[in-house]
Amino acid sequence: MKTSIRFVPLGGGQEIGASCYFLQINEGHILLDCGKTPNGAGRPQFSCILQPPFLESLQQINHIFISHSHYDHMGGLVYLASACTRGSIYTTAITKALIAYMLWDRGDSHTRTMSARQREHEEILVDKAIRSIITEGYCRAIPLPAYQVTFYEAGHIPGAAMVHIQTADRSILYTGDFSCQPSALTSSYIVPDRVHFDTIIMCGVHAKHPSYTSTGIRRQLRSIKKRLEAGCSIYLETSQLTKAWEVLQVINDAMGKNTLPMVPVYIDRQLLVLAEKMERMSIPVLKPWNRVCPCHGPGPALWIGRKGASSFHHLPGHVHRQKIDFSLHPTYHELKRFILTHNPKTVVLVHTGYDDEGADNCLETELMACAACRSQFIYAENGEIYTL
Ligand SMILES: [Zn+2]
Repeated sequence: MKTSIRFVPLGGGQEIGASCYFLQINEGHILLDCGKTPNGAGRPQFSCILQPPFLESLQQINHIFISHSHYDHMGGLVYLASACTRGSIYTTAITKALIAYMLWDRGDSHTRTMSARQREHEEILVDKAIRSIITEGYCRAIPLPAYQVTFYEAGHIPGAAMVHIQTADRSILYTGDFSCQPSALTSSYIVPDRVHFDTIIMCGVHAKHPSYTSTGIRRQLRSIKKRLEAGCSIYLETSQLTKAWEVLQVINDAMGKNTLPMVPVYIDRQLLVLAEKMERMSIPVLKPWNRVCPCHGPGPALWIGRKGASSFHHLPGHVHRQKIDFSLHPTYHELKRFILTHNPKTVVLVHTGYDDEGADNCLETELMACAACRSQFIYAENGEIYTL
């Protein structure tokens, strides 16, 4: 029997938002990711599938695969785990540890306004959600009744996975967020050469940004070096905690190789907890010159932390603030190469950033003109049903 596949984005279609994608494979019901918008307000629109011809209840979801621990891909997990107690949630061990950290140790932003009783209830739900996660390593097939699922290393951040779903006659890859270049903490994505995909559901953050070029952290090291050599102290401020973790790794590497002056590096408590947790999972980052804020002696120093980090509220007035931003996503040209390399029959584009350059379908147009490319494109919108 030919496999029948239907696909509905419930969030994170043509937007960076609450990524959550429903796949119906024959009688099987799958969710790929379950995120929330960064402020916690935007959630997946489950109502799109709680109607004919799909589900009567979320209890009918069989399997949930979480690609990585960024909030826009996993922030809705607490709700989902309580509404869908019969579904199995899978991710990698590192992603599970990071999810636990993001949901439990850090506390979801919406819990800050809760009463003690509500908070206690929320904590029970978080604990239940984390306990229910089943972990699997890369390249190890998970045999499920109607399909086989394998995680591949996605790069992007530690623990991130691409999700490969194989049926008798179909081979589908959900990329999640991925990277084509190694970073301080990860390799680039790794897919075995022998594996072929007929359909790729691709997170294409820069798919509509042809002139975007990557801003790596290493490019910003030169200005940091100059300032430190001039005796300045700098606060390297990032937008996300996991980015602060990556900056810390790059700075420690550079100091270890003497390409940056050796000065004390102060990190905030949240970053310390995260780094220590990851050290226990064999991702060593901390060095002897890393200190916890707020102690500070004379001479230049670096502070590394997320914007608004509570332990950095009272930094000395002379500390220069430097925003460190970089993308962990493939550039437009890397996405193009990725499609040409794997040459699937169908590319379903999701999780695309705004079309700020009037270049809506430019990736599709360029690839259609390429003789080697056989792919057809779907720019999947939230709530629409696609037959794949
Ligand atoms: Zn991500």
